[in-house]
Amino acid sequence: MTERSRENEIDTYPHWRLEQWEAAAPPGRVDHLYVHWSAHDYQSVFPAYHFCIAGDGDGSIVVVNTHDVRENMRDVAEQPQRPYAAHTRGRNAYALGISIMAMREATPADFGDYPLTEPLVDALCLVTAKLAQAYGVPLDAEHVMSHAEAALHDGYFGTGPDERWDIARLAPDRRPLVPSDATRVGDELRVRMLRFRTS
Ligand SMILES: [Zn+2]
Repeated sequence: MTERSRENEIDTYPHWRLEQWEAAAPPGRVDHLYVHWSAHDYQSVFPAYHFCIAGDGDGSIVVVNTHDVRENMRDVAEQPQRPYAAHTRGRNAYALGISIMAMREATPADFGDYPLTEPLVDALCLVTAKLAQAYGVPLDAEHVMSHAEAALHDGYFGTGPDERWDIARLAPDRRPLVPSDATRVGDELRVRMLRFRTS
């Protein structure tokens, strides 16, 4: 494995314990939210996402703001050389990426040494729900989806090197991965997000 660099350290970025995080996000246009897992360990964070849900090593969950959300508040295809968080292929304009740090070397049947956990999934749902609320993004399948659902729409859903299946399973299962895994889990995640919505 490669050594973790500065850009993968939690301490490099603004970060909060989950209980202390607030969706105090800079104003601007956000149309879509995409949820992911990183396919790495619990602590390595990535600036390809705007918010990373990580483990800080002593068992608590931290929210790490790894990328300035304002850099995606534009049609990124117009000036692709300018920095932005490239989290979801072809869908980064006016879109934020939120990701659970987990699932290194995971397969649909075996989630490996850094599996998703219920607290991590809950944290992802809370952060996504609060961001949706802050930016007025409807919590439906058109506006808030997993990378797996986006990949399904765009023809690269799967476990191959250039394919994506995050987040099409919440638990390992020997059954082969199928497209309905993505949509069913996407629906479940949105239901869980709705529970965190406050009026
Ligand atoms: Zn992804």
